Amino acid sequence: MAKQRATIVRGGRLINAGGQRAEAADILITGDSIGEVGPPGLPAPADAVAIDARDRLMHPGLINAHMHGHGNLAKGMGDRWTLELLLAAGPWITGSRTLEDKYLSTYVGAIEMLLKGCTACYDLTVEFPLPSVDGLDACGRAYADAGMRAVLAPMVAEFSFYEAIPGLLDALPPPLQKEVERLRLAPGEATLNAMRQSMQGWTFDRAQVRPAVAPTIPHHCSDDFMRRCATLAREFDVGLHSHVQESKAQVMVGLKRYGKTQTAHLQDLGLLGPDFTVGHGVWLDHDDMQRLGDHGASVAHNPGSNMRLGNGLADARGMLERKVNVGIGTDGANCSDNLNMYESMRLASMVSKTQGPDTDRWLTTGEVLAAATQGSARALGFGDRLGRIAPGYKADIVFLDLHNVNWLPFNNAVNQLVHTEDGSAVHSVMVGGRMVVEDRRVTGVDMAALAQRVEKTRERLEGATRPNKQLFEQVEQVVNSFCPGLAKMPYHVDRFGGGHHGHEHAAWVKRV
Ligand SMILES: [Zn+2]
Repeated sequence: MAKQRATIVRGGRLINAGGQRAEAADILITGDSIGEVGPPGLPAPADAVAIDARDRLMHPGLINAHMHGHGNLAKGMGDRWTLELLLAAGPWITGSRTLEDKYLSTYVGAIEMLLKGCTACYDLTVEFPLPSVDGLDACGRAYADAGMRAVLAPMVAEFSFYEAIPGLLDALPPPLQKEVERLRLAPGEATLNAMRQSMQGWTFDRAQVRPAVAPTIPHHCSDDFMRRCATLAREFDVGLHSHVQESKAQVMVGLKRYGKTQTAHLQDLGLLGPDFTVGHGVWLDHDDMQRLGDHGASVAHNPGSNMRLGNGLADARGMLERKVNVGIGTDGANCSDNLNMYESMRLASMVSKTQGPDTDRWLTTGEVLAAATQGSARALGFGDRLGRIAPGYKADIVFLDLHNVNWLPFNNAVNQLVHTEDGSAVHSVMVGGRMVVEDRRVTGVDMAALAQRVEKTRERLEGATRPNKQLFEQVEQVVNSFCPGLAKMPYHVDRFGGGHHGHEHAAWVKRV
């Protein structure tokens, strides 16, 4: 086999999360990885392909630590929805999908993320009533075709939303109780077998698309099922991801069912570890954060989704102080309506700054950028290969156009990347040494053809999911009085005790 030619990137400015400046630097790429980074004039093999990065700011590809590939065809479908209304709307907005639809939904998200400077994601995807080898293969293919990296975790459970919240089923009128029965999930055994089969026959290069296991929400699963998910993930050496303490209603259900927080319960079950990622963690108390930190676990912080669904504001500073690895995500387009990691970084910074007057406790833009790159990389299980532009790391690099208005003037690289940039300066994107976005277009993608395909699919799904939409409209009232009822129960999260003096927490949390 012929030796792959090296690539030398010359003339760009390289951002560094630790510093505020972006120095001129050349990057030598060999194969799919970074060989060397050095000052302008870095020696390179005579036959190296040269990339001119003049007037470009280079940053490591952003990494989305929590999103849902199935949600991309559902953007903008809801407005005043809590998490519980979103879950109830699921069969309508993300249901009745064919294999082709699963591919297309995932693919549209991959295209969006690449165009917005994101090169890898943790995708918690779902199939009803259980994951399938073909479905996961279709989603994996979407990422491989788009040229982006992904950790693909089938989101699995044993109990439907209606079965998982004690009392909710009884609150529905009998005819509706019967109706929601058709939303029953497959038995846990079948679901575990499907995941095992998929992982055994995995055909994708694990450096690009790798599997993981996502027991969706602890109280949607039996303890035995949660344990078996962890055993399966560890047998195949893949990640574990779950939505934990995302909404207050969930917290109240968890306390009722376990007599302790979900995180304390997951610790008892043996789930916590460096391979475990908490999705959201809005309602973690200090002890929960300590548990996660002690086990080297991660939190995927999704500030946009947390606000959009009225879940409150997560305390990323508290997590970092307790050595939790914090990554940043967008959550699904079905609940945060875009997959823009620049926006997520900006919101992570803002959310931190709304939580008290002590500026020392606010996240710095450098911390936010580190979370969206190195922190997310670690959550994905790629901590030693992604998230940095440094020798030995994969060559996943975003090139921003410094002539874009976002950079006029160029005062401070990291502050502007987190607070000013919105994705519109993304000029090109490299994944594994290969340009997948050039001059603001994804290589080889005909956007007009894609738009046509998406519209045809949207139209068909609108018809196919009509009964599910009608069912949602019938249960909406009940869900929307029952779940906020849970959320209004008194519960105080002690986040600012233990040495941190009485800050008023800005989330609605403290006002109930
Ligand atoms: Zn989620």
